[in-house]
Amino acid sequence: AKLDNPYVGAKAYVNPDWSARAAAEPGGSAISNQPTFVWLDRMAAIQGTADARGLKAHLDAAKAQGANLVQLVIYDLPGRDCAALASNGELGPDDLATYQSNYIDPIAAILADPAYASLRIVNLIEPDSLPNLVTNAGGTAGSTTQCATMKANGNYEKGVGYALHKLGALPNAYNYIDAGHHGWLGWDSNLTPSAQEFKKAATTNGATVNDVTGFIVNTANYSATKEPYVKVTDTVNGQTVRQSKWIDWNQYDDESSYAQGLRTALVAQGFDAGIGMLIDTSRNGWGGSARPTGPGPTTSVDAYVDGGRIDRRIHAGNWCNQSGAGLGERPATAPDTGIDAYVWAKPPGESDGASQAVDNDEGKGFDRMCDPTYTGNARNGNNLTGALPNSPLAGHWFSAQFRQLLANANPPV
Ligand code: BGC
Repeated sequence: AKLDNPYVGAKAYVNPDWSARAAAEPGGSAISNQPTFVWLDRMAAIQGTADARGLKAHLDAAKAQGANLVQLVIYDLPGRDCAALASNGELGPDDLATYQSNYIDPIAAILADPAYASLRIVNLIEPDSLPNLVTNAGGTAGSTTQCATMKANGNYEKGVGYALHKLGALPNAYNYIDAGHHGWLGWDSNLTPSAQEFKKAATTNGATVNDVTGFIVNTANYSATKEPYVKVTDTVNGQTVRQSKWIDWNQYDDESSYAQGLRTALVAQGFDAGIGMLIDTSRNGWGGSARPTGPGPTTSVDAYVDGGRIDRRIHAGNWCNQSGAGLGERPATAPDTGIDAYVWAKPPGESDGASQAVDNDEGKGFDRMCDPTYTGNARNGNNLTGALPNSPLAGHWFSAQFRQLLANANPPV
């Protein structure tokens, strides 16, 4: 039988490629020994690219480190990143067969090598894909034709189902499905539909709910793990803080409460009662001098929420290279009720997207959410993006961002 929580008693693999880049930055060696996820973000990443070793080499390096847990991101769906452009991938909307036979099958074949049987393999399944089907595939202001296409052709669900089934069949593999973050799926109108969408994908194309160990929230995002000074149940002069501009009637204002609430909704849909949640805490620390040290003033709900929230973003829909962010909680095992681990899924210092158009052969487009001069769209309430300037392509090293994350770390480094 599989372990209930693969992180218990585990020593997680430190990716030497990321570690070297982190250690080369001033002060970076303070955190360069932290485990981060290996992103298999295109077919070529399986064999290795100029910037990163391939999967087999990672698994061999993990064994050489004496690690027994390796964290992978499965990220190459057909029509990837349908509501944005920065991480558009190499496969077109109809390339499900290629995804299955040239991406998932080779990964599964390598992981099935008996030489790696002693390694626990954590798979983060396809960031943003199913959440995009819930909120961006038709009917709402933020919808895109690309997401409507992926909802209509079913290839996100079939791809996720295939990945869950193939990888879930390995006795040492643990699948965690990406579940967005509170500032995306936390509203009542999104939460149960999300749980239903996850159930649908997890019972498609051979998968069953037993192929799912749990879910991960806040992948590559900036939402705070906990908001110590603003609870959604707070009131100011008799008015609920849920009516503030920042919370905007959401049921949640941080990732811990969202993860726990979603976990309950997932079990209600038929997922195993033992599922656990992961929270990506790589860039949600929000430390530094701008961090509030207590609740905001009670002059109005907005003054209270804006003065007390540690998440300093302009809008919770902003996702690209956020200015002012800091490293969050260091990776930790079973830190809270229902939470299997805090993890660093997005490797700190790797860009979310380029701030201007850049020619590339990775399929990546230019998303203006990464441009600090852009005034936004329906998905961020038509606000400024809060992105740092001069950023490179998604996944490429962004030294200025790494330095800011280190300076604003909370807990401090
Ligand atoms: C990029 C990937 C990259 C990952 C981790 C994503 O946004 O699209 O290419 O591997 O971030 O940095």
